[in-house]
Amino acid sequence: MRWSQFYLFTTREVPRDAEVISHQLMVRSGMLKKLAAGIYTMMPMGQRSMAKLEAIVRRELDRSGALEVTMPTIQPAELWQESDRWSVYGKELLRIQDRHGRDFCYAPTAEEVITDAVRHDIRSYKQLPVSLYQIQTKFRDEIRPRFGLMRGREFLMKDAYSFHADADSLDQTYRAMHDAYCAILEACGLEYKVVDADTGNIGGKDSNEFMVLAETGESEIVSCECGYAANTEKAVTGELPSAPPLAAEEVAIEKVETPDLKAVPEVADFLDIEPSQMLKLMIYTSETEEPVAVAVRGDREINEIKLARLLGVDHPVLADDALVERVTGAPTGFAGPVGLSGVRFLVDRSAAALMSFACGANEVDAHFRFARWGRDADPGEVVDVLLADAGDPCPECDGTLQKTRGIETGHIFKLGTKYSENMSCNFLDAEGNDQPMIMGCYGLGIGRTVAAAIEQNHDDSGIVWPGPLAPFSVLLISLNPQDEEVVAATDELYGQLRNTGLEVLYDDRAERAGVKFNDADLIGIPVRVVVGKRGLKEGKIELSRRIDREKHLVDRADVVEKVVELSS
Ligand code: ATP
Ligand code: MG
Repeated sequence: MRWSQFYLFTTREVPRDAEVISHQLMVRSGMLKKLAAGIYTMMPMGQRSMAKLEAIVRRELDRSGALEVTMPTIQPAELWQESDRWSVYGKELLRIQDRHGRDFCYAPTAEEVITDAVRHDIRSYKQLPVSLYQIQTKFRDEIRPRFGLMRGREFLMKDAYSFHADADSLDQTYRAMHDAYCAILEACGLEYKVVDADTGNIGGKDSNEFMVLAETGESEIVSCECGYAANTEKAVTGELPSAPPLAAEEVAIEKVETPDLKAVPEVADFLDIEPSQMLKLMIYTSETEEPVAVAVRGDREINEIKLARLLGVDHPVLADDALVERVTGAPTGFAGPVGLSGVRFLVDRSAAALMSFACGANEVDAHFRFARWGRDADPGEVVDVLLADAGDPCPECDGTLQKTRGIETGHIFKLGTKYSENMSCNFLDAEGNDQPMIMGCYGLGIGRTVAAAIEQNHDDSGIVWPGPLAPFSVLLISLNPQDEEVVAATDELYGQLRNTGLEVLYDDRAERAGVKFNDADLIGIPVRVVVGKRGLKEGKIELSRRIDREKHLVDRADVVEKVVELSS
């Protein structure tokens, strides 16, 4: 493709809302145009990378045995009412009405539509399992669309759904999808980790996320050398090393005045103890749940997502001052387990393991020290709501957890029968009994993965495309587009390179060399070929790879072979 005939306009200007580098570089390299918040047009450069990824995704999904379909993006409300999600999905669901006043929504996902299709076709266990996928636009009215394609409102997703007669069959397909996702990310040349994930409110048991590793990722991951890896939303730890008890068993509990000292570090400092020798008690509430008191070791945080799953609610929220006062009898900052009553009391393992500790006294400006479970405080329900941290013991070996960041590009779930039960998607088993199908669902963000590739592969000058996602594989630059000899030589080379099947972008623009080189760095095509008057005189052409920018002067006759070698 000749640049002069292509549609590619680079810019130095960084849009003000582009907080992350992938967003900045996609705009600057002419891949992307914003239409409205979280809604973008893919320009030709961006379209080419998206198409590359889509081809890889199709190849691996087809290989896994899944079949491609295309579902509508506009879905009738009735299906969502049947599955019981119309009322619970919230504001991310874009609801619309047709001219007759009938309710529809723009697809944020397609469990309902695919379940509706399958329930009309499949009758018997003999017709199962089935896996169907599509690559289709989704709309989610995200609270904070940001980071360009990474968290858009309208975005392209590959979504797949599988239907099974039994759990073993689901396990097999889940494994095949897992492997297909690994193959996709490997084929893209990306560094990634598969992590245990929270299943959210879709429910189901197993769930994995595919994280492309990047410092700027929104997700936090803990992992161990043994292979254990989990989203911190979900991560568990081994038993924490215990904090030294504050006092011997015979030492009685003692109340200490702590005027205006509320936060754990302040109180610990005042009492001259470690925060890990304190107990932190938080009061939570939610729309559906009575208040609960949750204790965690003083130096640690509560994982609110684990807490949500435990309570079976969407979002536990910290109680306001009035509720804290009602539950504990004291203002916020002085809550403790001693004498706590009339409220469900959850104790994280980290707090349950404390032998003798300090805690709030449920009285303004007072704390206890030398408190003990059983003797002074009811031990509550011991649970795991700990937010895992770097340095914690691995739950699966003697190792230590590390923390990294990643971008969630894919998410796979075992759904179970939630949708099939609600929507009567049944089959006849071998005994002739009607059973709900067991389902799996598998999502992968196309735009988010392309953005993640840039987030992981760039430098100060621009994108450094991994070959498989690059919009072109070779950038051929003519330094003297007015010089007949140079033009003839570059045109000839362009033809030869294209004949090898390489995708070549030919910078034939009448621009200065500096402009061309800056653009070359910005758009990040993996192999650069520079034809200039001076080199040609000596029969040489300059080749370099974007990744190291090391220049090689190559004889004219060897150029094609060498470019093919560098491109592979
Ligand atoms: P997140 O936690 O980031 O909001 P999610 O759990 O809502 O993601 P899923 O419903 O599992 O995401 O969707 C499957 C995939 O679709 C995600 O792994 C991601 O790659 C992509 N995706 C989800 N939301 C967006 C979005 N707003 N913009 C771009 N891609 C998205
Ligand atoms: Mg989401």
